[in-house]
Amino acid sequence: MTKQQTVLVTGGAGYIGSHTIVELIENGYNCVIVDNLCNSSYESVARLEVLCKTHIPFYHVDLCDREPMERIFKENKIDSVIHFAGLKAVGESTEIPLKYYHNNILGTLVLLEMMQRYDVEKLVFSSSATVYGDATRFPDMIPIPEECPVGPTNPYGQTKLAIEKILADLYNSEKETWKFAILRYFNPIGAHPSGLIGEDPLGIPNNLLPYMAQVATGRREKLNVFGNDYDTRDGTPIRDYIHVVDLAKGHIAALKYLDARQTGKGICREWNLGSGKGSTVFEVYRAFCDAVGEEIPYVVTGRRAGDVINLTAKPDRAKQELKWQTELDVATACKDNWKWATENPFGYQLKGVKADFSTHEEQYDARFITIGADSKFQATVANLGATLVDLKVDGESVVLGHNCEAGYLTPDTCYAGATVGRYANRIAHGKFQLDGEKYQLTINNGVNCNHGGPGSFHAKRFLGPLVQNPSKGIFTAEFMLIDEDKETEFPGSLEVHVFYKLNVLTKSLEIEYTGKVSGKATPINMTNHTYFNLNKLLGKGTIEGTELQVATKKSVEVDKDTIPTGKIIERDIATFDEKPTVLGEKTPEYDYSFVTEEHSKDIDTRSKKLQLVTKATNPESKVTLEVLTTEPSFHVYTGDWLCAGFAPREGFAVEPGRYVDAINQPSWKDSVILKPNETYGSKIVYRFS
Ligand code: NAD
Repeated sequence: MTKQQTVLVTGGAGYIGSHTIVELIENGYNCVIVDNLCNSSYESVARLEVLCKTHIPFYHVDLCDREPMERIFKENKIDSVIHFAGLKAVGESTEIPLKYYHNNILGTLVLLEMMQRYDVEKLVFSSSATVYGDATRFPDMIPIPEECPVGPTNPYGQTKLAIEKILADLYNSEKETWKFAILRYFNPIGAHPSGLIGEDPLGIPNNLLPYMAQVATGRREKLNVFGNDYDTRDGTPIRDYIHVVDLAKGHIAALKYLDARQTGKGICREWNLGSGKGSTVFEVYRAFCDAVGEEIPYVVTGRRAGDVINLTAKPDRAKQELKWQTELDVATACKDNWKWATENPFGYQLKGVKADFSTHEEQYDARFITIGADSKFQATVANLGATLVDLKVDGESVVLGHNCEAGYLTPDTCYAGATVGRYANRIAHGKFQLDGEKYQLTINNGVNCNHGGPGSFHAKRFLGPLVQNPSKGIFTAEFMLIDEDKETEFPGSLEVHVFYKLNVLTKSLEIEYTGKVSGKATPINMTNHTYFNLNKLLGKGTIEGTELQVATKKSVEVDKDTIPTGKIIERDIATFDEKPTVLGEKTPEYDYSFVTEEHSKDIDTRSKKLQLVTKATNPESKVTLEVLTTEPSFHVYTGDWLCAGFAPREGFAVEPGRYVDAINQPSWKDSVILKPNETYGSKIVYRFS
């Protein structure tokens, strides 16, 4: 591919669409998604961002709405379209046919009008084997070739056929222009092997695998097998099951086929996407039981109206022309489906997770996500800066934060709750030297560069989050960011992950950072910059009265420019075995780094024992905070210069991390230089009682 093409994926939040996006991005395409979420959730897109390590523009738009559809074409230079959006349940289509005709056909008409208006000529369309109807009505049409006469037997199939005809008519009107690939899918099953995306049916699943998964996880009692008296090897009907990852790859093959066509040579052609191998219901049942490792209860009931004995594809045309064929078998699909089902028993709909828009518009990459939302210990996180926006203990907030994203985007910042990086704390004069090269960062704090400089991690929208509920009372939210070489003035392309883990039962929030760099080595030091106020629940906007104890008095001595002198001194602050230091209205003032380990050289500290570094209590509110970390240093700041909507001493921060200005200190340098092929890692825990 010469230039990176942009593909508009309609219905991209859905089952097949989301899997196709993974393949598109792997094949170097950019994707834009339009979906009205009538049968899906934005969480699939948030997960795709983490899985594919890229931002995926998303439009919450109904294809039938001309105006917002036109906006998508205006705002993006679309090269081609893959059109998944549509209602797809055969049974439902017989109950509400008008809705099916309206949604599927009008949606396609609007899409085609926009394509015509904005000169987008290539479209891959999700059709279905349903258009063939009962191919067994012919004596010799199993396996089913594309030439098999069509004859859908339900409104859903009729809408697919009608769209195929619309495409053919449009092509016939301008044969030099239009390039249409009509893909007739057989039975998609399975899930992405990562276990992060899969089929998430709302209500009772229509398809065999999601249904069996719900029986296996105890959500449904037993599987109904509709008839075992067909004339097949075991009496149950035969279908052509195709792994959804294979199916997704079929779309790339079709798109490349269209891309390769010469200008002026249009096409409108159908291809079956199937394996060519039929499996009976009992064979799939067996494969699924093997994947689960136990027998799933089932009952044979009577035949279902409209079911036919055998629907197997003849996939030769796709093999010859698109150079595509299936590679994964039913057993693999069952295994992948089971991984998805066990790791996400409620699909994307997690109880105890709430998402709100943090902007006045519906901006999906700027949401506030609350984990543990049904409990009294909960955390709210945001894409901007992978920020900890709020933390509630016993139902009351104990941190400083804003209730909308705009609050964080003011010219001055105090980094409230933000992920600080690439380099937390000061770099003297914003200068460092690495691998023979000299670097000068923007000065943003006296004569120094602080917290990575302006526009650093705190001001960037992270990808994701990937939110999961791995066990009762545990919620995780993972954000990621790619900070390209020199994007924030630092060398090397850095990929970082910020992993929040909330434990409702132990009232603790763990934050884990990881980083990997490519191209060049980089200095790195990440932390979280939450300001705590344990008085907040008493309605007090000050930290006055908070009792503080720390692990050590040993602190980094700094000169008048807050640059380390190289000496470790003792500061007047209470350690755990002493009477706590009480924070008054104005004093004591702390903006100092303390060291629990003076000579750490570890770039990944995660395997170290978590060490308690600060304990803060408020005797009035009776809330106690403990800060633990695997890091060798922690910075205590009493918020004396708080700004950006907050008052001085409204909150205090404890920021575990590497040593201040370590990149310029010979004895500490190694702890902050991340080389390609190494992993940076650190952990912080906020624990409450
Ligand atoms: P899905 O329901 O998971 O995905 C379809 C997506 O389209 C959903 O995210 C839904 O919210 C969206 N959508 C529906 N109407 C829309 C509209 N008017 N505007 C914007 N978005 C809209 O279904 P899927 O299984 O991923 O199927 C994708 C396509 O493949 C569908 O067209 C379906 O008919 C076709 N297909 C599916 C199967 C199958 O068994 N899954 C088989 C053959 C064909």
